[in-house]
Amino acid sequence: MASLYFKYAAMNSGKSTQLLQAHYNYLERGMNALALTAQLDDRYGVGKITARIGIDMPASLYAPDTDIFELVKSKHEDAPVHAVLIDEAQFLSRSQVEQAARIVDDLKIPVMAYGLKTDFMGQLFEGSEALLCLADNLEEIKTICWCGKKATQTARIDGNGNVVRQGAQISIGGNDQYVSLCRKHYMRGESKPMLDADEVSVLLEAAA
Ligand SMILES: [Zn+2]
Repeated sequence: MASLYFKYAAMNSGKSTQLLQAHYNYLERGMNALALTAQLDDRYGVGKITARIGIDMPASLYAPDTDIFELVKSKHEDAPVHAVLIDEAQFLSRSQVEQAARIVDDLKIPVMAYGLKTDFMGQLFEGSEALLCLADNLEEIKTICWCGKKATQTARIDGNGNVVRQGAQISIGGNDQYVSLCRKHYMRGESKPMLDADEVSVLLEAAA
């Protein structure tokens, strides 16, 4: 039975690495997994999914107005598609998530969507909200905050490591713009370890 999967996480959790592994697993079994990624994300060149661990592969692109049901249907007619893997799925529109659901229901092809749950302001992306509503299967890919707790938030930081609270939802610039934090450190705006009051007084005494 085909299903619609949403594998979500904060930034830098290895989502693309898992996607590339899933793609390889299909290939190894002689199956055809179609990989899609968002056109607006051109960090690494056009039509490529790149994992931070240093591997990449070509991918078909979807733009905001791409009908991904029709895209997959036409490729499926050329050569049977056994699975669809979508990277950067937070950038899908609600309509595109509904199209992904039809790929599962009408074409009976499993769809695995990988993406961020929330943006740097802690709000759901459109694609992630629709996937949380419509997916058959939700899976959290875990990563950790600098404190060791599970990181659930993606913070945008400036050049000094300060957490930025305002700006455009999408700012494609490189992974060093973002850091994954637990809720407490995200809400406190602590993107890295801060000295507590005792540690500060010890340092002040030593300097005196
Ligand atoms: Zn933390």
